[in-house]
Amino acid sequence: MRTLLADHPLVTHKLTLLRDAATGTAEFRALADELVTLLAYEATREVRVTPVTVQTPLAPAQGVKLASPKPLIVPILRAGIGMLDGMTRLLPLADVGFVGMARNEDTLMAATYANRLPEDLTGREVVVLDPMLATGGTLVTTIGMLAGRGADTVTAICLLAAPEGLRRVEEAFPEGGSPVVRVVTGSIDAHLNDKGYIVPGLGDAGDRLFGAI
Ligand code: URA
Repeated sequence: MRTLLADHPLVTHKLTLLRDAATGTAEFRALADELVTLLAYEATREVRVTPVTVQTPLAPAQGVKLASPKPLIVPILRAGIGMLDGMTRLLPLADVGFVGMARNEDTLMAATYANRLPEDLTGREVVVLDPMLATGGTLVTTIGMLAGRGADTVTAICLLAAPEGLRRVEEAFPEGGSPVVRVVTGSIDAHLNDKGYIVPGLGDAGDRLFGAI
């Protein structure tokens, strides 16, 4: 697993506003959306392309287009939905699958309650969207599901990450193994608290995006 910390000043500026407990739902959603687009720019740096030639008004020009098969974007319900628009804006041709994972607040174990993924992901690049990489349980389970279907590259975009979660993903998917796993994040925070929340973090990302239900 490779970690890419996208600590660009604009990312940190927007993350600071996102963390602020005084930021309301509407602004929080807009900031999450903008942040994903910035992080997606880094996350797609190695996306596969094939060469093409187009005719400008003056001459042929060499360029590239996204390679086949198209990338697959997988937001993890519920909070990952708040990152989907920002991602599809950058990759409008990608397909979208869904995984629903809920964390048991006592055991902190992730359980799958929804799965809408193509059966065959052979040779596909997958981008997973989950705002908070906390214990890493959700991400490890999701990557395992994708690897079982044949995905060869999985890039997770997480607004914030905890060192504990990064270590867990690294242990499950070490560098040089298959699939190739990358985590792109805007910040590596200090630690998890005893409830599995990232500190300082931003609280419950799902609640801040969609309200406490
Ligand atoms: N999920 C969240 O929404 N926030 C955290 O801090 C950890 C997991």
